[in-house]
Amino acid sequence: MATPLLQKIANGKIWKFFGGIKPQELKDTSNCVIETLKIPSLITIPLSRHLGPEGEILVNVGDHVKRGQPLTVASGRYVPVHASTSGTISAISKEVLPHPSGYTDLCISIKPDGLDECEPYNPISNWESVDNNTLLERIRSYGIEGLGGAVFQTEAKLRSALDDAKDGCKVLIINGCECEPAITCDDRIMQEQATDIAKGIAILNKILKPTVTVVAIEDNKHKAIQAMEVACKGVATVRVIPTIYPSGAARNLIKIITGIEVPYNVHTSECGIVVDNVGTVLAVKEAIIDGKPLTERVITVTGDNFKHQGNVRVRLGTSVRFILSNFGLNPEYHQRVILGGPMMGFTLPTIDVPITKAASCVLAPSSKQIPKLKQQTNCIRCGRCARVCPSRLVPYQMYSQSKASNHAAAQKCGIKDCTLCGACAYVCPSFIPLTAQFRYEKAVEKHIYEAEKRNARAKERIAAKQQRLHEEELARQKKKEEALARIKAQKEAEAKMTPEELQASRQKALEEAKAKAKARKEALLKGATTPLSGEVNDESQTVERIKNQERKAIEISKHEGHMDNPLAKARLEQEALAKKLQQEKEAHKNDLPFNLRRQAAVRTDTLNIKYYEEVIDNNTTHALVGLEPNDALQNPERKKPVAQVLMSAQFDKKVENNKLPEVLKKKTLRSKK
Ligand code: SF4
Ligand code: SF4
Repeated sequence: MATPLLQKIANGKIWKFFGGIKPQELKDTSNCVIETLKIPSLITIPLSRHLGPEGEILVNVGDHVKRGQPLTVASGRYVPVHASTSGTISAISKEVLPHPSGYTDLCISIKPDGLDECEPYNPISNWESVDNNTLLERIRSYGIEGLGGAVFQTEAKLRSALDDAKDGCKVLIINGCECEPAITCDDRIMQEQATDIAKGIAILNKILKPTVTVVAIEDNKHKAIQAMEVACKGVATVRVIPTIYPSGAARNLIKIITGIEVPYNVHTSECGIVVDNVGTVLAVKEAIIDGKPLTERVITVTGDNFKHQGNVRVRLGTSVRFILSNFGLNPEYHQRVILGGPMMGFTLPTIDVPITKAASCVLAPSSKQIPKLKQQTNCIRCGRCARVCPSRLVPYQMYSQSKASNHAAAQKCGIKDCTLCGACAYVCPSFIPLTAQFRYEKAVEKHIYEAEKRNARAKERIAAKQQRLHEEELARQKKKEEALARIKAQKEAEAKMTPEELQASRQKALEEAKAKAKARKEALLKGATTPLSGEVNDESQTVERIKNQERKAIEISKHEGHMDNPLAKARLEQEALAKKLQQEKEAHKNDLPFNLRRQAAVRTDTLNIKYYEEVIDNNTTHALVGLEPNDALQNPERKKPVAQVLMSAQFDKKVENNKLPEVLKKKTLRSKK
């Protein structure tokens, strides 16, 4: 940025941006002092962020949390979310979010305990002397995001100006325009907390070291201008600009203050210009000087349908329904409740949605205040929409392409540059809902973009897999060729040998193979964790190694006299049992008569005879057999004479024989004949 331009900016020159409109102001609440809303009975905090992933959830259902406690941890430039009051986590589930489509996403719900206990505040009292990284990290970790509506991560924006801008930050613009009709929360903040905002500006000045710092305020906010002029002496210049909608949009404001038109594909901070909303600057001051994470914000509650209107400080996550009921409105089914202003806001599909950092207004207008949309008619190509578009677009072209689902053409028309300011729809004599269509088109394009990204990632994965398979195939081929060449060479060599040489050579090869196998076996017994050089670490080796490690663990456990290792304990118990059974078997082996001993030895698997005893019952000698003495004597099922057992075994054999397939049975019978 050239010095003469900076000089002009410093001298107070202002420029005009293209297009714009002058809608009804509806700023009745600019005199309403900021109230503080009581804590609701349920807080719902959405986890989705403007940029990047949600972060890792740090809490579980049932956990108790305090106000300001981080609920997620986000690394890099991503921002965590914080509990906005103390209470118990009642759910981590998908809830309806404040969006025209009413889509659901992951939220953390807190059941407040009413105590509103806070995490201890951790102010950086010496912020003037600490390094920028500490301040930026504090801004990130305390959840500071743009409160003007865009919810862009403040720390990322500041870093971008420091790292990406060619000559660092030249102009810092504090946005106090609040051009949207009906919204007065920033106006009230400037009236009531001008000194705090000035401290926040001083922090940003310290971080960015801009050449010029300007607080831009529209000329319809007299009290705010006065308060800010007094408070900002020495830190910034207050610049009063004409009230034209949408002068508060970052690019339009940059044009007004600096005369520069920032291209739409470039971040403003990359041009060395940073624009921050007054609410965000206040949050920066609270995070650094007071040590408070961002857990609340000021919103305007306005519209003829409320019993009373005003500006109110609410905890993030408070439901719109709770706010409405506190302002005396229980809306009918068809009654419109708009989140945001009449130009950029949208009608809520349900009032059970939480207030987020992006929300600045809840509007419940009467049909007299904001008339219902009239019946739309065909475009008459009057060109009014193009004349008011601050992004220099041709809205009727974009609309027709989008309506025809011609997304590529809509993109070419510049849908990306549309800021959804609503100026075109406001002036359209045919009442065409241009902004609503553009919002829909942007959502579709986001969907298409994400699908393309997914497809590109999938293609990369497939290409990498094919490359890997190709390389493996090549390696296999090479190995095969080497082996064939080796065999061929060996055969050729053997062909030239005498029979004695051939035998000696084969003997030598055999011995080498044996030595190699022996070495491998020894290495395995030692529990080698890595394969011997030149060997393949196959599955059997792995199993053997695990067994060795297990054996070692058992020995160590035995040696140390404790059985903490459950595997070792189970193995030892198994060994002890096997040993005991063996001993018992040995002790009773001579109890059996020779014949039966032989049979038992031969037929253990069939008859399961391990014990034999002769008893005299009714003058008949019976032999008792069984698994063990007690078993044989006490279990009537096993009190069978040996002959009976043998017979039953023979019978079993017969049964088995009868189970043969019919064809085989016939064959057996024929052979017997
Ligand atoms: S203002 Fe409405 S009628 Fe006129 S050109 Fe634009 S879309 Fe068509
Ligand atoms: S909504 Fe988009 S197209 Fe319409 S005036 Fe605003 S920037 Fe231009």
